[in-house]
Amino acid sequence: MSLLRIDQNLTKHSYYAATAPREQRHPALQASLDCDVAVVGGGLAGLSAALELADRGYSVVLLEARQVGWGASGRNGGQALVGLACDQSVIESQLGREAARRVWDMTLEAIRLIRQRCGRFAIDCDWRDGYLSLAVNERKARELRNWQAQMQRDYGFETTWIEPAEMPRWIASPRFHSGLHDRFSGHLHPLKYSLGLARAAAGLGVRLFEDSPVIGIEPGPPPKLRTAQGSVSASHVLLAGNVYLQGLAPALESRVMPVGTYIVASAPLDPALAAALIPSGAAVCDTNFVLDYFRPTVDQRLLYGGRVSYSTATPINLASSMQRRMARTFPQLKDTPVEYSWGGFVDISMNRAPDFGRLSDRLADKAPGWRNVYYLQGFSGHGLALTGLAGKLVAEAIAGDAERFDTFARIRHHPFPGGRLLRMPALVAGMAYYRLRDML
Ligand SMILES: Cc1cc2nc3c(=O)[nH]c(=O)nc-3n(C[C@H](O)[C@H](O)[C@H](O)COP(=O)(O)OP(=O)(O)OC[C@H]3O[C@@H](n4cnc5c(N)ncnc54)[C@H](O)[C@@H]3O)c2cc1C
Repeated sequence: MSLLRIDQNLTKHSYYAATAPREQRHPALQASLDCDVAVVGGGLAGLSAALELADRGYSVVLLEARQVGWGASGRNGGQALVGLACDQSVIESQLGREAARRVWDMTLEAIRLIRQRCGRFAIDCDWRDGYLSLAVNERKARELRNWQAQMQRDYGFETTWIEPAEMPRWIASPRFHSGLHDRFSGHLHPLKYSLGLARAAAGLGVRLFEDSPVIGIEPGPPPKLRTAQGSVSASHVLLAGNVYLQGLAPALESRVMPVGTYIVASAPLDPALAAALIPSGAAVCDTNFVLDYFRPTVDQRLLYGGRVSYSTATPINLASSMQRRMARTFPQLKDTPVEYSWGGFVDISMNRAPDFGRLSDRLADKAPGWRNVYYLQGFSGHGLALTGLAGKLVAEAIAGDAERFDTFARIRHHPFPGGRLLRMPALVAGMAYYRLRDML
């Protein structure tokens, strides 16, 4: 039994759901199928893998418990950022400088991949260039500046430093001290993008099934997935279910923790006000550990995200408390109503690094029947771009070149203390420490 009970309120009132009509629905699985690769999960990780595999000529079946894009992929902050959720030093200390550099370069590729796919498959998802990382005080500014210098020196990654006196040109908020501008990252409408990928995958021959939760998996060869009314036998399987696998692969669950995070969309703003808030139109994050993230939309709203929760219930008064948070950053929005509020779960790993691998490596008996079962998780709230790359790496591995996938798979992870059932208190204690640091 998993601890994650999904609060259906989290899925309602999403700005994304209201502005991205689902033109294509997919049937539930009601047959026994054979294919080369079966994918569990219709989020960006699963869709990306399915697309890449079909493009390489594999027959692919994708099983989604609800609807494609229902999970984090269709409800996130829309910020497509380079890098990982963890600092590069985590990767350097585990894999060495050279491999860490390869990992960093792959995160750049992840952004390029979004642009390429939007072009190739004509996905209109409101892409906009630019990302601002803003420090709320002098100490945070020093840390950010050190990070900038290190990334330029060790990785050749160029960003523009924004001095305190220049800040009004970048943001109409008194909250921030200084920051940096990254031209390479950007933002998009994640549900439009997810549905666009699903359409592209179907166009390449992927058989997609919705309302088809996978309730059992048997080791191979060939591994077999069971749903309530059907089954799929495949040479290879990918588990891309984020925190929603609900007991399907217990060995993976204690390695990630579901943490709730929340977003609101303001009512449409006066165009002059909307343009003045963030003149460059970039996405923005502050540098706190529990961060606020926000961005403008094409229809002149502000999308404002923040807060975390370790219980799976939606916080009471979510819309009003997020409205206050938004107004703390932009006092000029203190009377602006919020029209949509929603949330979702991120899959946090202990070290915030992504957790990719094969199920056989996570099981004590290393049974070869699980060898062809891949998994992708642990994006730790930084997966919008990286999921796309991750799916490509799985496709490469299945096609016989696992070098890049294995670079990520070599990153070591520890399960949360307390295992699947008692991991929550350990995370709460850890996060409380970092919050305290932010406040001090
Ligand atoms: C509120 C929020 C804001 C975020 N903001 C950002 C951001 O701005 N930038 C960023 O980079 N990242 C952000 N993230 C993180 C990012 O959205 C995720 O890392 C990414 O979408 C994960 O994609 P995924 O495919 O792994 O999982 P998901 O999109 O969650 O997809 C998993 C799918 O698997 C399905 N599934 C699970 N189990 C089964 C089963 N047994 N059978 C069939 N189907 C199953 C689920 O129904 C679900 O649809 C945010 C996340 C949230 C929740």
